[in-house]
Amino acid sequence: MLDLVDVVVDVRVRGTQPSYSYRVPPHLAGAAVPGVLVVVSFHGRAALGYVVERRRSTPADLGFDPASLKPLVGIARGARLNAELLSLIRFAAEEYGGPLWLALHSAVPQSSRSRLRPFWELADAGAEADPTTPEAVLLDRLREGEAADRQLRSRFGEEGAKALERLRRRGVVRKGWEMLAPPIPRAGTQPYRVAPAEALRSFSEGNRRRPAQAAAAERLLVRAGELLTTAKLKELGINAATRDKLVAAGLLAAEGWRQSFLGTAPADDELLAGQVEALAAVREALREGRPDGFLLHGVTASGKTEVYLRAAAECLSLGRTVLLLVPEIALAGQVVERVRERFGEAVAVLHSGLTASQRYGQWQRIARGDTPIVVGPRSAVFAPLPALGLIVIDEEHEGAYKQGGMLRYDARTVAAKRARDAGAVLLRGSATPSVDVYYRAHVGGLARIEMPERVSRRGPPAFEVLDLRDLRPEKHSISEPLRQAVGETLGRGEQAILFLNRRAFAPFLLCRDCGHVPECERCSVSLAFHRRRGVLRCHHCGLQRKPPDTCPKCRGRRLLPFGLGTQRVEEDLGALFPDAGVGRLDRDTLGADEVLAEFRQRKLNLLVGTQIVAKGLDFPDVSLVGVVSADTGLHLPDFQAAERTFQLLVQVAGRAGRARIPGRVIVQTFSPEHPAIRFAATYDYQGFYRWEIAIREAAGYPPFRRLAHLLVSHQDRAQAQGEASRILGALAKAGPAGLELLGPAPSIPERVRGAYRWSLLMKMPPEARPGPLITQVLNDVSPCKADVTVDVDPQNLD
Ligand code: ADP
Ligand code: ZN
Repeated sequence: MLDLVDVVVDVRVRGTQPSYSYRVPPHLAGAAVPGVLVVVSFHGRAALGYVVERRRSTPADLGFDPASLKPLVGIARGARLNAELLSLIRFAAEEYGGPLWLALHSAVPQSSRSRLRPFWELADAGAEADPTTPEAVLLDRLREGEAADRQLRSRFGEEGAKALERLRRRGVVRKGWEMLAPPIPRAGTQPYRVAPAEALRSFSEGNRRRPAQAAAAERLLVRAGELLTTAKLKELGINAATRDKLVAAGLLAAEGWRQSFLGTAPADDELLAGQVEALAAVREALREGRPDGFLLHGVTASGKTEVYLRAAAECLSLGRTVLLLVPEIALAGQVVERVRERFGEAVAVLHSGLTASQRYGQWQRIARGDTPIVVGPRSAVFAPLPALGLIVIDEEHEGAYKQGGMLRYDARTVAAKRARDAGAVLLRGSATPSVDVYYRAHVGGLARIEMPERVSRRGPPAFEVLDLRDLRPEKHSISEPLRQAVGETLGRGEQAILFLNRRAFAPFLLCRDCGHVPECERCSVSLAFHRRRGVLRCHHCGLQRKPPDTCPKCRGRRLLPFGLGTQRVEEDLGALFPDAGVGRLDRDTLGADEVLAEFRQRKLNLLVGTQIVAKGLDFPDVSLVGVVSADTGLHLPDFQAAERTFQLLVQVAGRAGRARIPGRVIVQTFSPEHPAIRFAATYDYQGFYRWEIAIREAAGYPPFRRLAHLLVSHQDRAQAQGEASRILGALAKAGPAGLELLGPAPSIPERVRGAYRWSLLMKMPPEARPGPLITQVLNDVSPCKADVTVDVDPQNLD
């Protein structure tokens, strides 16, 4: 019998081979278990990999020449996947129809060989050596304990290295590896107490010759005596150098965490009824170790985050750890800050600013239990927290929880599986829960807690819907009533946010003579017109070209922009309100932080943007939100189009009137009677839900059916279609009862980057698992000439 391990090698390789087999040498027989990081020889080079399986095989069953089996070189200490994580990673691969190595790569930070420290240790404590040889000296040293390879080499030189090798061959010593974790730079959240006003004033007067410091002291006057984080200081334009000088001058004093910030939390007896109810339910489940699921349906600013923080504190007090998932770390600034304020050093924030090696270090610290609270985006669902007790999914309806790219896992589903396995409580929160989850709360299996009231007790901003069919705003993207409202807002010294979910100046150019629309030659989509840069650009592949002067088809001179984009709105506003200061935020904007900082400092008073401005922004002076067109996403061929429009409208409305000033929301649309808009205008979640769930049921969409989407792409159109048909046939043959197959049909758009894309849609009963079926069928029909993208529980069908 051969003693083998299957190793997923941490090297980027082409092909789909999931893992490679290695022989387990006798001295590693005890250590080579699933989950350990090993050093192997791969194409003649040392590589790292994770053991995913230990198995025994006869030479005959192996399928290849046993002589070509290489032994494991060694085990790396300090990096290990426990059984729970390994099974979670397996689940993600199976459930979403992808190879295990892909799931592993999404879950575990790439380990880097440069962090691997080789060391030597005694394998045989009783070993002796001729006292006149270097071996004896080495053995003496190793009897004191293991020693780093580098240290031994520098101390005993070339002779020593040779002696070590001889000892190793005798089995007296062995070489090991240890993964070292690099230090993590801490994000700036140290709090500083600002000195009293008199001190600031006299400093700024006495330091006219140090203008930066004097100006900083003046800016701090309005915050005298307060506690500010480094992040807040930065917002006030005080950088690290200036801050250090102010600390030296005694104007800022670093303070410890915890006590200092607890002041901002409401006292126990101030909690709202919904908060009390939610906390009591979560607390009971935590105490009894029941893996219950809760849906916290609370309007914006109803105190959901406060519930998360208190539930987290409760969980920690029971000796268990907490995972807080957020849709996007960049948009979760305020949540992150509050978690840090409350729990300080106990928090690890997983963000994309870390290098691979730093991420690895953080991973190890989490695994050791140094940071019992982890905040992060979808990939954080794999954070190696030991003794997990609570998983919070903030803004649970957000599509960002679904991974794009190769392995399209849904962090919410993986989180639910993890919570079940770990016996952890799963708490999902949203102001506009996904229809899917709300339905589950409705039919049971998930307890629903409603928090219908804002902490401020003030209702949400009033909604006005403008029917563009009556208004016909020919010249401007902004209709007359919206223009007036913006003017009044600016006149009162307040700010406005204008939302349009389409970037560029115009989505395409249209020849007014022959109707021609310039398209991308690699993708079957129109090219968007970016006026500022004077280019046409493909939003699928990035192709860029100069717009032609005349229509390439009819030579006409009226090839002009058609439709609206954020750049157009920005220009129109600039023309209408030349002194207001207009900023834009979308994927084409560089320096989003600067735009936001200027908006906060009131250098800008109007902000135009896509989805980015709809979520999370909190500016006290914003009293007006204008939706330039609510129709952009409404008529997409996608079963979630209405749901997304409803959610976006409610969310963007929540940006207005957050502090003292009441807010106002104005929505321009050509479809004012559409339920997504009507129900959003009255913040009627239940009404929207009842309408939407009936349609889902009638049309056979989630939550009544489970979907999987296969995208088959090939440079050749006939091949793409042919392979799609072949896969369809195989699925139909293998398919269990209740499987419904739609397609193959050309995808929308059919061509992207030169490849033709044909799609298949599978509908299955809600409890079915399409992933394993797809994996099996794709294995059977291979070798498949086309690329196949598997998307189980798709968020969109393109
Ligand atoms: P949400 O997450 O639902 O948007 P938050 O938890 O952020 O709401 O609460 C909004 C604001 O109200 C925060 O500044 C929070 O500190 C405060 N807050 C929360 N609960 C209470 C309460 N019971 N009493 C007073 N203030 C509260
Ligand atoms: Zn293109």
